[in-house]
Amino acid sequence: MVGVTQRLIVVGGDAAGMAAASQARRRRGRADLEIVAFERGHHTSYSACGIPYWISGAVEDRDELIARDPATFRSDFDIDVRLRHEVTAIDLGRREVVARDLDGGGEVRERFDDLVYATGAVPTKPDWAEDGVAGVFGVQTLDDGAALRDWLDADPAPRRAVVVGGGYIGVEMAEALIRRGLSVTLVEQADQPMSTVDEDMAALVAEAMRGIGIDIRTGTEVTGLDQRDGRVSAVVTAAGPIPADVVVLGLGVRPNVALAETAGIPLGPSGAIRVDRRMRVPGAPGVWAAGDCAESLHRVSGLPVHIPLGTHANKQGRVAGINLGGGYATFPGVVGTAVTKVCELEVGRTGLRERDAAASGFEFVSVVAESTNRAGYYPGARPMTVKLIAERSSGRLLGAQIVGWSEAAKRIDALAVALWNGMTVDEMTGLDLGYAPPYAPVWDPVLIAARKAVDALDRR
Ligand SMILES: Cc1cc2nc3c(=O)[nH]c(=O)nc-3n(C[C@H](O)[C@H](O)[C@H](O)COP(=O)(O)OP(=O)(O)OC[C@H]3O[C@@H](n4cnc5c(N)ncnc54)[C@H](O)[C@@H]3O)c2cc1C
Repeated sequence: MVGVTQRLIVVGGDAAGMAAASQARRRRGRADLEIVAFERGHHTSYSACGIPYWISGAVEDRDELIARDPATFRSDFDIDVRLRHEVTAIDLGRREVVARDLDGGGEVRERFDDLVYATGAVPTKPDWAEDGVAGVFGVQTLDDGAALRDWLDADPAPRRAVVVGGGYIGVEMAEALIRRGLSVTLVEQADQPMSTVDEDMAALVAEAMRGIGIDIRTGTEVTGLDQRDGRVSAVVTAAGPIPADVVVLGLGVRPNVALAETAGIPLGPSGAIRVDRRMRVPGAPGVWAAGDCAESLHRVSGLPVHIPLGTHANKQGRVAGINLGGGYATFPGVVGTAVTKVCELEVGRTGLRERDAAASGFEFVSVVAESTNRAGYYPGARPMTVKLIAERSSGRLLGAQIVGWSEAAKRIDALAVALWNGMTVDEMTGLDLGYAPPYAPVWDPVLIAARKAVDALDRR
């Protein structure tokens, strides 16, 4: 609409929301587009991914985790950032949002032409964690991280930590707390931590974690907390209490969609907000969604999935912003690539695990290849395990996992590219990957695994 100022409201001021807002601004000036961003926390565009490394002390200053502060968004991007404002209602008919001022009190109403819903995810919090016992922390936001840091820095400083949940956040937090000199117990309900990889690969992670002194209790469910003088003193499990001066929750997240649901914004089968390739919400004109609250298409299974990762949030927000700014961009979907580490052990995964491949109806072979990260004779050579899952009939790569010491995690990227482009394991055996003794054996672990997968296919 030429000559009429449009209004964009952004709900959620972190990765997805502010990527959308800044991309839209890059393409349209103030006279064309007014942008208001509501964020209920104290910060914009912060790296939640960096929280474990700030807690551990690897990153010293919290401000290093903030990519852009509200002042920069106001001055350089002309975005009206309203911190500590929580959007409590979205009226699609009247095209307005209601936001509560969490510090000053009171409510504001703001009209919109377009709305970006970027509220992220909500951490799972069991009933026993709702009691408000001091010393129990989540690590979802920078504010959560700050509360935990303060507790760890306090006098008397806690000595015994229990991390509940063995997903990648729990694993990263266990490392952070060990690095701070606490004794750490990780409690996981399943048989292995790191359920993002298959059990045989997760067992390698568990072994390495035990090797650095983390006490892992698998097959153990936490049912409650003990407290002394209002502070946590133990987590209660069926196998008995585990003493704790501090408890960190890493029990996974679900999409933060309550506000959207109430407003009548449709969800997809994964429980996250359904979006099209341009990040528009079908059936809700002028509404866009991005990040941990939104669904993605999995390019291997073909299913809509909820994979809450910063890498997707930034890309999806950028796509929404380009489109809002009058450009054209699409989000191509995901293949489930993720990396993490626990001390020196690195873990990478992409595509489908065995159970995902089976659930998607694929017939497949899977192979595990043991190799080293460098030429065997080169100083510092350490074990590297690569697992490949390939479709039985076509040989197409369906999934890959790597566990190993240095240079393991980012090797998954080559496999992610192969997967993205539908390569077969046979084609992969000829890939021109880099080789020099400090970086790989002459047959890279990825190529060794591909050859092994071809052999497995031939034996069918
Ligand atoms: C400890 C930790 C480590 C991580 N490590 C990695 C990693 O290594 N790699 C990776 O890819 N991803 C990682 N992630 C995930 C990554 O941080 C998220 O995927 C990413 O932050 C999602 O961005 P988002 O903008 O969608 O949501 P969020 O970052 O959750 O931001 C949503 C924002 O919306 C605000 N909000 C919610 N509701 C309202 C409302 N009603 N009104 C106003 N504001 C509202 C929230 O306060 C929040 O700031 C990690 C996450 C955590 C917690």
